[in-house]
Amino acid sequence: MALIQYLTRIQFEAGAVSLLSDELRLLGVSRPLVVTDKGIVAAGLLATVLAKSGLQPDTAVFDDTPENPTEAAAHQAVELFRTAGCDSIVAVGGGSAIDLGKAVSLLTTHSGPLERYAAILGGVDRIGANKPPVVAVPTTAGTGSEVGRAALLTLEDGRKLGFISPHMIPSAAICDPELTLGLPPYLTAATGMDAITHCIETFLSPRFNPVADAIALDGLARAMRWLEIATSNGSDATARREMMMAALQGGLTFQKGLGAVHSLSHPLGGLKSVKLHHGTLNAVLLPAVLRYNAVGSEEKYARIRAAMGLSELADISAEMAKFSQRLGLPATLGQMGVTADCFDQIAQHAVQDHSTASNPRPVSAHDFRQILEDSL
Ligand SMILES: [Zn+2]
Repeated sequence: MALIQYLTRIQFEAGAVSLLSDELRLLGVSRPLVVTDKGIVAAGLLATVLAKSGLQPDTAVFDDTPENPTEAAAHQAVELFRTAGCDSIVAVGGGSAIDLGKAVSLLTTHSGPLERYAAILGGVDRIGANKPPVVAVPTTAGTGSEVGRAALLTLEDGRKLGFISPHMIPSAAICDPELTLGLPPYLTAATGMDAITHCIETFLSPRFNPVADAIALDGLARAMRWLEIATSNGSDATARREMMMAALQGGLTFQKGLGAVHSLSHPLGGLKSVKLHHGTLNAVLLPAVLRYNAVGSEEKYARIRAAMGLSELADISAEMAKFSQRLGLPATLGQMGVTADCFDQIAQHAVQDHSTASNPRPVSAHDFRQILEDSL
């Protein structure tokens, strides 16, 4: 069965953040809780958004989003939502703030522990439409969460789980590439590699959704063309616009299902011993997963090569590793501070991750361990 669903209202242009108040009005709400993080505040981006959007200066703000959003942070934000009398959520930031905003919306009207709504625990059908609207304002170009139906959160016990439902898709996305002009090179590269991974993994997913396939290949070609430019010259407005579109395209496609890179980067991102950035993890894991998935994917690999502008005989895995290196990203998990002692646990969690079912080649815990060792 193929469920193909494109719902999100998107305002996409330089300066689009000025439309935020109008979008809230259209949704019939006026007292948002802004969910963001300290980095966004420190970079002056929150002030920019508040000033340009016409939101009231006394708008309630939760700026304690952790690097990988947690159940505990979601509950804290829900508390603020209630005490401040909010009726909606405006999530300003990268994937973490947007995912947290989605979880806050869920928990304001859905009772019980968050775990109850996790996709792998049968939660998809427990998520209903009766929740306050979320407007997503991405400040990075990578996550695609602004149009995605998933939120990834780390529970109290350390499991990083996906909360997935069409009702989790933000009611509107304000994609303003100007908000990414100040993003530092490393984060530009790492978040951009997340977008690239979304496009590749969803394209390789065996589910039938040619609509998503077409968007994924276009997003991949766009990101391969512009990510190095956006990374080396952050003030290039065209590169920033193109990367924000590539990220959006990645987000529109991953309803088709991701694959083994995300199966591994989800539990690795939940580790408490070391803080690991999602996009950087994907960049490091992608070459080994591309080698693993090459078996049986020859036809699709030919289309990926074409989208990447590579010759017919090029080794996609090796080319992707070189690309990532040119962006200044680490080449191995070891360089990120990961050690092999967590591999058995990560491999077990990866088998259970919701992305594993849509990897083009079946992956066992043993295979995941091998991919981890190849990436060390
Ligand atoms: Zn991702």
